Amino acid sequence: MSAPPHAHRHAVPVPEPSSEEVDDARGGVPRLRVTEIYRSIQGESSYAGVPCTFVRLTGCALRCVWCDSTYTFTGGAWMAVAEVLSRVRDLGDGLVEFTGGEPLLQRAVHEAIATLCEEGRRVLVETGGDQDIAPLDPRAVAILDVKCPGSGMSDRMDWGNLERLRPHDELKFVLDGRHDYEWARALVRQKDLARGGRIIHFSCVFGRLEPRALAGWILEDALPVRLQLQLHKILWDPDARGT
Ligand code: SF4
Repeated sequence: MSAPPHAHRHAVPVPEPSSEEVDDARGGVPRLRVTEIYRSIQGESSYAGVPCTFVRLTGCALRCVWCDSTYTFTGGAWMAVAEVLSRVRDLGDGLVEFTGGEPLLQRAVHEAIATLCEEGRRVLVETGGDQDIAPLDPRAVAILDVKCPGSGMSDRMDWGNLERLRPHDELKFVLDGRHDYEWARALVRQKDLARGGRIIHFSCVFGRLEPRALAGWILEDALPVRLQLQLHKILWDPDARGT
């Protein structure tokens, strides 16, 4: 699928992964590069409000203009998948989210997701939209970002992902103003993205678009989307990590 109109603003070069970044099975033991593992309240999906364990993986090939997770681009620590699973089990939540960075950049994430699904946990995967979601475990829920022009990353989207969504997957648009809203509105309507009851979230770039304005636009246009407030930014320090 070709990119929608206005998809070429703010092209930003991004680095290639180093050999260490792709060394994800040292000695045959699958491992993940992890920025942090922590408990918080889920805030950016239909599971908003539910206590959740977050596994934040290191590394992202995108560079969204408004990214609030730039600390995940580098650093982190290598952990065996078994160790990650042990930490998640210790924290005890039935809801687990893999986020980043971009969690689908690391192949070993699929083993971790499958194991947690087998244990009966609900697994969410927050993905930036540039990685193919086809390999994702069918039991996991993709929260797929659709990168709007204001992110500068629209031309990096894998648009085929819109055809690969499973019925329970959700879409998220983060909007930095009226221009992004109109672009997202056109895409939702032209592609009939809400067909089959697909859950679509519209949220605001923090400090750049007022949720009240977005609420008004959604109501005015009767768009089949949900206004999403970034709960963690309301509950905790907006710049805090591990929230
Ligand atoms: S995809 Fe997410 S982590 Fe990567 S640059 Fe964009 S907002 Fe930041």
